[in-house]
Amino acid sequence: MFDAHRHLPISGEHRPSSGQHIWFATSGPDEWALFQTLSSPPQWKHGYGLLPQWLSEHPHDQTAIFDMIAHVEALLRHDPHGYIGEIGIDERFANLVPLDVQLSIAGRLLDLADRTSRPVAIHHVGSITLLENLLEGADVGIPIIVHGFLGSLETARHLSNRGCTISIGPNVWAHQTKLGNRLAEIDIPFVLETDYPHVPDLLAQSLGYEQILASHYREVAQRLHLQQTDLEEKMHGLATILTDW
Ligand SMILES: [Zn+2]
Repeated sequence: MFDAHRHLPISGEHRPSSGQHIWFATSGPDEWALFQTLSSPPQWKHGYGLLPQWLSEHPHDQTAIFDMIAHVEALLRHDPHGYIGEIGIDERFANLVPLDVQLSIAGRLLDLADRTSRPVAIHHVGSITLLENLLEGADVGIPIIVHGFLGSLETARHLSNRGCTISIGPNVWAHQTKLGNRLAEIDIPFVLETDYPHVPDLLAQSLGYEQILASHYREVAQRLHLQQTDLEEKMHGLATILTDW
């Protein structure tokens, strides 16, 4: 299976099987070094990320931000499995990290991704206009995954036209979203993710990582009237395209 977005293993978690295609994401610099300890097989990818939430919890000035971005660049140079993510816009933290600062940081990281030809995973909470501003300002040619997408089908199409790939996680079921109900109508390519361990409470209490991934695939396959193996094959195909760097 392909999990387009999850976080680093948590303590006590079984190591995911090596055959799994996994894009690990991080939220800030304190996690970046951990990839060196992961002994990843080639199908595990390492996301170097910087989220508004992380910045809201860690005092920083502009010099510190520039240093972090330079650090990401250095890490990417030495990590052939590295990409940038997750980064993005989160209106919930706008009081601590103003939106113009969020946009400028995300814009710089998108530029870096473009310069180094690596994909980006974007986290987005808030008005779609902000995300559009970011994408318009950056105008990059690398693959962009908009992770944890819960918006409308129309927005999904719109993002796809802009060259983004939306990624859908189990929260699409937990919140009974319109998108979940209309999944069979999605006529653009999308990928699947768990965002583990940030999964809906009910799942987290009863299931382990690989079970959550498998049950998400089962649910999606059912809604799309596909065999699960066909869905897996389709996702592997997309993983191969997105991982072409
Ligand atoms: Zn995440």
